[in-house]
Order: sequence, then C-alpha cells, then structure tokens
Amino acid sequence: MGVILCPEHGRAGIALVCPHLATNTDRTPTRLQIDLSGFKWPHWFCSDCLKQFGLPEFETDLPETAVESYQDAFAALRPVCGVCFTKQYEAKTG
Ligand SMILES: [Zn+2]
Ligand SMILES: [Zn+2]
Repeated sequence: MGVILCPEHGRAGIALVCPHLATNTDRTPTRLQIDLSGFKWPHWFCSDCLKQFGLPEFETDLPETAVESYQDAFAALRPVCGVCFTKQYEAKTG
C-alpha cells in the first residue's frame, strides 16, 4: 500500500477508488476487499463500475486472483487519501 500527501492529513495511506468516486463524492461506494494472505486490502467501486466490469454488487472479500480476473477494473482505480475517503464513506453508510 502506498502513501499519499493530503493537504488536510499530510502523509496518509491511500485508498484505491474508481475514477467516478475519485471525482464525484455523491456516488455510493461499494467496498471490495482483496484478501492478500490474510491482509484485507480495500478497493472502492461505484455501482456503474461494478455493473460494467461484472464485479459483485455487494461488499465482499475477493481472492488475490480477482485483481487479474478483473484487470481492467483494478487498473482504472485511482489513489486518494484514505483518511478523507473513509470519512466520506462512513458518513454515507453510517
Ligand atoms: Zn465508477
Ligand atoms: Zn486526507
């Protein structure tokens, strides 16, 4: 996992989100976690991306091989500040 320089939070861990979520915070994110030998690495997609790429449309854990199976979907993800994104995400999901 990388680190990003956030104007608000300084050096923060990145969250990987789809291009729509990176620019439009009104969309509802769905969290898909990749299971890397026990470490759950979260990735967020909007519902359009889930449909477009045939990903599960509910929060779930996927095996590491999903990154290759859904290569186009994961290649499109953008890094954003994990602290900012998680705040927005929690504000939406309660
Ligand atoms: Zn999207
Ligand atoms: Zn931030």
